[in-house]
Amino acid sequence: MGTGGRMKTSARVVVIGGGIGGCSTLYHLTREGCADVVLVERDELTSGTTWHSAAQVTNFGGVQTMVGLKSHSISLYKELADDPDYPINYHHATGGLRLASKQWHIDGYHHFISLARGMGVEFELLDPAECQRRHPLITTDNLAGALWDPLDGDIDPAQLCQAMARSARRAGAEIYRHTPVSDLTQKPGGEWLVHTTKGDIACEHVVNAGGYRCNEVGAMMGVTHPVVSMEHQYFLTEPIPEIEHLDFRVPLLRCPADDFYSRQEKNGLLVGFYEQECRTWGLDGIDPSFANALCPNDPDRVFDVLENVFGRLPCLAETGIHTIVNGPITYTPDGLPLVGRIPGKRNAWCITGLRAGLGEGGGHGWLLAQQIVHGEAVYDTWCLDPHRFCRYANIEYTALKAVEDYRNEFRFHRPHEHRPAGRPARTTPLYPVLMAAGAEFGTVNGWERAVFFKPDPDFDDEPSFRFTPTKDVVAEEVRCVAERVGITEVSGFNRIEIAGKGAGTWLAGLVCGHIPQRVGKVRLSYTLTERGNVLSEATVARLSEDCFWWGSAASAENHDWHWLAAHMPADGSVTMRALTNTHTILVVAGPRARRVLAAAAPRTDWSAAAFPWLSARRAIIGHAEAVAMSVSFSGELAWEIHVPLEQAHAAHLALNLAGAAHGMAHFGLYATESMRIEKGYRHWKSDLISEYDPYESGLTRFVHLDHEFPGRAALDAKTGAPPRRRFVTMEIGTDCAPAHPGDSLYDGGKVIGTVTSAAWGHRVDRNLAMGFLDPAYATGDTEFSVDLIGQRFPAHVVADCLYDPGNELMRG
Ligand SMILES: Cc1cc2nc3c(=O)[nH]c(=O)nc-3n(C[C@H](O)[C@H](O)[C@H](O)COP(=O)(O)OP(=O)(O)OC[C@H]3O[C@@H](n4cnc5c(N)ncnc54)[C@H](O)[C@@H]3O)c2cc1C
Repeated sequence: MGTGGRMKTSARVVVIGGGIGGCSTLYHLTREGCADVVLVERDELTSGTTWHSAAQVTNFGGVQTMVGLKSHSISLYKELADDPDYPINYHHATGGLRLASKQWHIDGYHHFISLARGMGVEFELLDPAECQRRHPLITTDNLAGALWDPLDGDIDPAQLCQAMARSARRAGAEIYRHTPVSDLTQKPGGEWLVHTTKGDIACEHVVNAGGYRCNEVGAMMGVTHPVVSMEHQYFLTEPIPEIEHLDFRVPLLRCPADDFYSRQEKNGLLVGFYEQECRTWGLDGIDPSFANALCPNDPDRVFDVLENVFGRLPCLAETGIHTIVNGPITYTPDGLPLVGRIPGKRNAWCITGLRAGLGEGGGHGWLLAQQIVHGEAVYDTWCLDPHRFCRYANIEYTALKAVEDYRNEFRFHRPHEHRPAGRPARTTPLYPVLMAAGAEFGTVNGWERAVFFKPDPDFDDEPSFRFTPTKDVVAEEVRCVAERVGITEVSGFNRIEIAGKGAGTWLAGLVCGHIPQRVGKVRLSYTLTERGNVLSEATVARLSEDCFWWGSAASAENHDWHWLAAHMPADGSVTMRALTNTHTILVVAGPRARRVLAAAAPRTDWSAAAFPWLSARRAIIGHAEAVAMSVSFSGELAWEIHVPLEQAHAAHLALNLAGAAHGMAHFGLYATESMRIEKGYRHWKSDLISEYDPYESGLTRFVHLDHEFPGRAALDAKTGAPPRRRFVTMEIGTDCAPAHPGDSLYDGGKVIGTVTSAAWGHRVDRNLAMGFLDPAYATGDTEFSVDLIGQRFPAHVVADCLYDPGNELMRG
């Protein structure tokens, strides 16, 4: 027991697990003002993965939230390390090289440099000679350059956790070592009982920080987290004379082409490998006695990588191996951890799936503690939110993705890159039909969705940070939609039927605007966080007095369901039914859409008078039962045809048969993306994030302050305040590359905004982007610039809606 006294029987929060995840959560809970907290650890602190971590601490991240939380780790670790009462071995700001050997690596680094700049972090792109000057042990063969992270370094993982634990204890937290949690039970009121081998602790909130045992802890509450461990290995070398002769530490190295990393350890190197012949670990259960333990050494496994490592660091060929460390490291399906509320559980949180937990753990614990104490964090945490995965992300799927991710550790995703492992995970009956029609698929929340249709079977879409030949293919699809008519399937669109006597009143009190007043109408509605920022976006259709359909982005399936469920009235006056996995949507869009639908469904009156824009009607398409909605994400005259999956093929056949006479063709997600940006339509979690309020997000017309709703008080407090940022559409002055989400916008050297979405607008023939901009620049006459593929290009604000601003086409 940490304090030597009796174990507490109650606390506000109990954190299970004393690795970096648990220690950081405990520490930050106390910093956020919550001192009635306990950490229980089955063995010693850091006895899971943490103790043997290579413990590199980089600032590099693929999205701004990751960069921000890593910056927090770095400054916190520095602060802790500088404490004279408890100094920590932290090689702060050694500097790190992320190597590049291909043009797309360089293009990608330019993007990540721009993205990081928006978070106040300065990376640099170095040429090969400068790389070698900073790291004299490397060769420059086949080297195109590197991204320089000046704050990169490494830390003693055990000292770091002890320092956090020490500080938390001083603030009132208690830590019980050698206290395994054996079960968890929840009382009807939501309070948890944490059963340990030394007694029970009652608490309001419980946090699973169980590392590679997170699914043992999860099982105690009936949850399986999409987390799988991989064996991961590094070598520590004997001293290297070249290093002994240097008067500085060699920088850290990470290499996307050769799948290794390295840093200085004493006068030798630590070299870690991401071999292709990698191995999952613990899938069939973990020996209870595996603590402070390693997996058996397995040097043969990394032979495939060694040759390239020797090519980059020739000194290694002459150097002996001193120690091999092979330990389990946790992965999720997308490589980012699960930090936040556990879906479907009250007062339950997790900080699991940390694969770079030493570098990131400081930031993750910070963001988690904020969510537990204040309900939300300073950043939008969707990239970490456990709700981003649904049921399809089971352990077998996660294992496939973990292996794929491990094999590609430093090979970041290029724009529009959808990797093959675990696919297809979710499909509708139309998947083979669209495949036969030439569809190239991407994935959205596990669903296969057609992104474009190949002009010939051999057409290859090479993902790139620049425009590729796919742009012309998309242009053709857009032309067909704009001039004739197109059809696309929106698989996985999230739909919930909300019904009952109380449904209308309940929904009206949840959204910051209005829900449809009349039966048969459709309206766009938004919910807000308690801080008055944008939480979710839904197309709400009123199908009868007491029956609504809530429609939102495919990725919002778990997010919206659990948020709505948590707000349900207790009197049984409202029921919810999930339709996402039982229905799909066929969109028919273009000036001839009405004629196609009239031919496919002749007993429905599709005229503008009978079926105006923003209405919903039941209809029979061919012989398939559907709900049709006259809504349009493309800006063309369009209907969404919602059909049950068993009739999706029938409806699709009927529409294609009717469409043939009108030149109807398939279009995909990229065409939709291009068209929605021309219309100024936002996309949830790209453009609509919980860091900005609806005014800053350009949603003022959807806010009606004539009623109470969650977030109302906070929104009232902001009303009239000058916006921090303004959401705008921009034109970029180049046709060689699109902007990318996260790119910074500049006035000279000053960052004045961030891109959130971008695409070529084919109907207006302009390179477009959307994003948040300093309001001082949000008028059309102010020029600013954006960083793309290493060059500055001019940019300026254009009208929010560039295509048919009066919405005449959609009204038909
Ligand atoms: C070889 C290797 C090299 C690495 N290098 C780096 C690196 O350079 N940089 C980096 O950032 N990351 C690195 N990592 C990853 C990093 O070490 C991990 O992400 C991190 O340590 C995970 O911390 P954690 O708190 O999630 O898990 P753990 O450290 O495993 O902690 C979980 C704790 O929960 C406890 N626990 C489990 N079940 C129970 C229970 N029922 N009751 C009570 N307690 C329980 C365990 O005993 C354990 O102490 C590396 C990992 C490996 C394997």
